[in-house]
Amino acid sequence: MLKKAIDELYSEFPYSYSLNYSGKFKPYRGNIRLRGDRIELNLSRKWKIVSEDIQIGLVQELLLKILKKRLKPIRTKTSSMELYDIFMKKIYIAAPKTENDAVLEESFDRVNEKYFYGLLDKTNFVWGNSSFSKLGSYEYGTDTIEISRALENVDVNLLDYVMYHEMLHKKHKFVRRGSRSYHHTNEFKREEKEFEGSSRIERELRKLLIKKRLSFRNVFRGFF
Ligand SMILES: [Zn+2]
Repeated sequence: MLKKAIDELYSEFPYSYSLNYSGKFKPYRGNIRLRGDRIELNLSRKWKIVSEDIQIGLVQELLLKILKKRLKPIRTKTSSMELYDIFMKKIYIAAPKTENDAVLEESFDRVNEKYFYGLLDKTNFVWGNSSFSKLGSYEYGTDTIEISRALENVDVNLLDYVMYHEMLHKKHKFVRRGSRSYHHTNEFKREEKEFEGSSRIERELRKLLIKKRLSFRNVFRGFF
């Protein structure tokens, strides 16, 4: 399979390579490493039963990324990569819904009613670390919205706004240009601004981040 993926992209390939399926990844994740002239691909075990064509698309995307400045490809788009994109955009249908949280689900429902006509399918919900640099994320492979604990006890509008942002990721998915995929497209940003009071909330979020960071720093000062 690797050879097939490589032959479609490169006329010459001066690297050796290996592929390993591992249980340590979240579903449909994987990574690629380049060590000297050796390429190691590690994919989530979930990929094993996915059709080879789709896996080839994933491998090609990873190869293009890691070899970007090292090896010139003969093409940057293949039908397998297109299949892989479609797969990642549709996989949420098959992802089991096992993670839930009442507060996050209520936020999702409020936003869904107000901005999506209630049409967005429910995702998994989890609280993440109390991170102030990453307030939320949406993971395609597991159909999971993760929200930072930093938003647990703040004005509910701030939580809803971050929830809205992640829901837009589920709605818009991503656009591929060449070997890069774009998640915050102009269309995405336009729609993000439709959230009631979005610029005020953006300001409040920024203020919150600054305040929290400062107080963290004070905490550390106390310790050292
Ligand atoms: Zn985002």
